[in-house]
Amino acid sequence: MHALPASLAALVTDFVRRHARAYVPAAAMLACIALLTVWIPHHVGAMVDGLVAQRLYGAALWRELAWLLAAGVGIYGLRVAWRLRLYGAAYRMGVELREQLYQRLAAQGPRFFQQRRTGDVMALATNDVDAVELAAGEAVLAGFDGTLTLILVVATMVLAVDGRLAAVALLPFPAMALAFWWISRHVHDASRNALERFGHLNDQVQETLTGVRTLRALGLEARSSARFAELAQAAADASLDAQRWEARYEPAVGLTLSAAMVLSLGLGGWLVWHGELSVGQLTSFGLYLGQLIWPMFAAGWVLSLWERGRAAWGRLHAVLAEPLAIDDDGRIAPVTAGALRVDGLRFSYPGATAPALDGVSWTLPAGQTLGLVGPTGAGKSTLLRLLLRQWAPQAGAITWGGVALTDYTLEALRAGIAWVPQEPILFSASVAENIALARPEASRAEIEHAARLAAVHEDITRLPQGYDTPVGERGVTLSGGQRQRVAIARALLADAPLLLLDDALSAVDAQTEHDILQHLREQRRGRTVLIVSHRLSAVMDADAIAVLRHGHLSEWGTHAELLARGTAASWYAQQWRIQQLEASLHDD
Ligand code: ADP
Repeated sequence: MHALPASLAALVTDFVRRHARAYVPAAAMLACIALLTVWIPHHVGAMVDGLVAQRLYGAALWRELAWLLAAGVGIYGLRVAWRLRLYGAAYRMGVELREQLYQRLAAQGPRFFQQRRTGDVMALATNDVDAVELAAGEAVLAGFDGTLTLILVVATMVLAVDGRLAAVALLPFPAMALAFWWISRHVHDASRNALERFGHLNDQVQETLTGVRTLRALGLEARSSARFAELAQAAADASLDAQRWEARYEPAVGLTLSAAMVLSLGLGGWLVWHGELSVGQLTSFGLYLGQLIWPMFAAGWVLSLWERGRAAWGRLHAVLAEPLAIDDDGRIAPVTAGALRVDGLRFSYPGATAPALDGVSWTLPAGQTLGLVGPTGAGKSTLLRLLLRQWAPQAGAITWGGVALTDYTLEALRAGIAWVPQEPILFSASVAENIALARPEASRAEIEHAARLAAVHEDITRLPQGYDTPVGERGVTLSGGQRQRVAIARALLADAPLLLLDDALSAVDAQTEHDILQHLREQRRGRTVLIVSHRLSAVMDADAIAVLRHGHLSEWGTHAELLARGTAASWYAQQWRIQQLEASLHDD
């Protein structure tokens, strides 16, 4: 990826350069339009003089009128053509920016998403990209067109009509430039505010839709609607404010041109009176002045598009330039599935007062299963996230097969790990496609095999369309336990050398959990497994059990070893006792 331009001007310049093949012909057509536009008043002036002198009549008059008509049609055709040419290029800019944004978002770690709200990020990909696109397309060519027309018209006024008249007529223009500068500053601030407000509104919509069931269950619809109305009003007010500032361009143009008209008619009349100017020349001059309306409007329009674009690019740039939380500098791929070694690991979440992990060390030989237990908030999930390199530890290192995790490419590392989070996500696709996420080419037999191992096959066959039933946001809603088992089937099908189960069976009953773990043991084929669980029965058969407490490794050993320490010395032994007791109470 090429360097990210900091300013909108640099971004647009770079884009125009790369798409010169679209911009140059469009600019050439605009130049032709400008020339024709300037030629028309000149021609009309000459015709007026011809008519006044009674030189122009009959066929010659018709011919001159036909030329005028041809020029008008020509301008129309060229205007259509340049817009078609340009829009192709400007849309390309939108596509490029959205791709860039998407790739960046996909590469960002949890830290990024923790600090930003989803709806706002979505607004960036729509509203803000649109604003930048308009600046790169419309604004650039309208700016070019306006400037060219302005230069041609003023030059013709001076050279073909009268320099003195032009100088006097242009007197009010510096005042207009000053007004434009002042307005554009406000447009920038107001646009930025409007984009931000829209982001907030978008965020509220996203959050409400995601949590609509909870809102309803808690009877919070009214409060949520009121909040929405408030944000919608704020977004509308902010847009209106931006519009209000933009609306000031037009009157400024009108005032300036009226003043110019008064001045030039005064001086022009005097000049005609003294025979220094023909009536036709004064007519042309008046028409030329009228033609300055477009460059002036263009200036106002370009300024507001540009300021909107600048505000949007500022927001987009902040996201695109945000450094990736995780470096992908490693070169080794694929992973070497050997012993998993954790050495002096320390990690704190941003802004946290106490570290989530502090000085954790252990070694797990390849192909073994480790049970990771401990009270809530002890750092179990955090440890898995560090293994996945979603976050980077502040101290210590993890090696796998003798290679530091950071030396693997991120892609290879993540392909080497199958991770089942506690609340897995199912995408809007069929159950079969959801299971085959990591291996889309897997056969139906392989998918079913994985589903059987995850003890979810029976459940799936009972769905309306079996394996082809759509699930996810737009499909059948599966229960928490079913979702977890589908996710386990997905992880088993991926067949990665390291399997991480993050309390992945919490919504499954004890017997089913037992069956799944039994299948896992039978099929493990040298796979290393880390099981985080609240239920100790899930880890009792593990080769080793690690107890984490407050980010420290407090116990390490097999089930039997830990129990042998007694309930006074071992958290594990104590918990085991409690859970056994609970289980026997349930059985009664
Ligand atoms: P466990 O999985 O053992 O229940 P976690 O690893 O989820 O514990 O959490 C360890 C500690 O880190 C807890 O104190 C928790 O509040 C904190 N924590 C977890 N995730 C985040 C996060 N994304 N940002 C800040 N703090 C977090």
